[in-house]
Amino acid sequence: MKLGILGGGQLGRMLAEAASNLGVEVLVIDPNEESSAASVAPVLRESFDSAAVEDALSGCDAVTYEFEGVPLDVCRKLESRVPIFPNPRALEVVRDRLVQKRFLRDLEIATAEFRSVSGPDELEAALVELGFPAILKTRQDGYDGKGQWRIQNRADAEQAAREVGTTPAILEAFVPFDRELSLIAVRDASGAIQTWAPTENVHVGGILRLSRSPLRGVAEQPLLTGDAWFERLGDTLDYRGVITLELFDVGGRWLVNEMACRVHNSGHWTLDGAETSQFENHVRAVLGQPVGSTASRGASAMVNLIGALAPETAVHSVTGARFYDYEKSPRALRKLGHINLNCTNDAARDEGLRSLVGAIGDRELSRALSALEPSTANPPRADRTRFDAPSATAAS
Ligand code: AMP
Repeated sequence: MKLGILGGGQLGRMLAEAASNLGVEVLVIDPNEESSAASVAPVLRESFDSAAVEDALSGCDAVTYEFEGVPLDVCRKLESRVPIFPNPRALEVVRDRLVQKRFLRDLEIATAEFRSVSGPDELEAALVELGFPAILKTRQDGYDGKGQWRIQNRADAEQAAREVGTTPAILEAFVPFDRELSLIAVRDASGAIQTWAPTENVHVGGILRLSRSPLRGVAEQPLLTGDAWFERLGDTLDYRGVITLELFDVGGRWLVNEMACRVHNSGHWTLDGAETSQFENHVRAVLGQPVGSTASRGASAMVNLIGALAPETAVHSVTGARFYDYEKSPRALRKLGHINLNCTNDAARDEGLRSLVGAIGDRELSRALSALEPSTANPPRADRTRFDAPSATAAS
């Protein structure tokens, strides 16, 4: 079988590796000069909308993509020649934050309150309705905290209004969350859904730094709600592949912050901590093969390496740690690799995570760890860092 992957960043690379391990031939399309996937699969360096790409991909059994920034018109055109999963309808929904939030609301999936904003007057009116604090986000092209303004007062509002101008945006009420979680599921060709254990995530400056799974203190009811959401989303979108919901946990009630129609950074731990990884199951689902078990193996954590890779000694000094290098050139705030930690139980995992973060010696990571720790055994602390300034120059 042959799989086409649009995008050759780290997600494309890990998808390509999973496919190769299954004996699937892979072709990655990446217009960029540097491609993380290049050392694991053949890469066609052409723009997504070129005739060469269309011809090359039409020989595949299926095509998938690693990010929502792939041009929608290209995917629609490709669809007439080769099956593309998740289908372009899902892409259309997730790539625009306003369309996505309306879609979730129509399916009765809980989100923060939101308003559409396309200029200073609408921002003013939306702030009157939602109040301070609030978060303004551009509808498109924002990721890892880019294109976001935290608005706590009038001065912030004026600055945000100046900076966003008339770019279409969405204003969201600020959610005073206890912790951030993600739920990742895979839906196969028959419509059957399997979900990995929920993951707790800590962001610093809008960028994911740490993930931990499984986590304590998740009641049965929100899990059932999550399952019901996946059923509704899967049926409505006729979805195939991995789907991710980023959530806010507010006193045990879950609100969806964002949906992604792809494998997700918060699911990297599944490479070592689950019977089948998110990458393998995505490949299996899009190729119409049966998916594997999503059951956890022991207790896991994941540390993102941002801007610089960790010293090798840091990884080797911690039992159960495994290092992943995306082979990207270092740049400030760029995701260059990650470390997975897999242990037999929660206590060993948390102890290992502390050692790992100490050995890496990164200030932001230590901050992330201190935000994670209180929720392990106790209810979240009131002084926990929640109102994080997003970084202006985050890069994937
Ligand atoms: P996003 O790009 O929407 O995933 O936002 C990046 C990060 O900003 C999230 O992981 C949260 O930490 C924070 N954030 C986004 N939206 C909200 C909100 N409505 N209330 C509180 N925090 C938010």
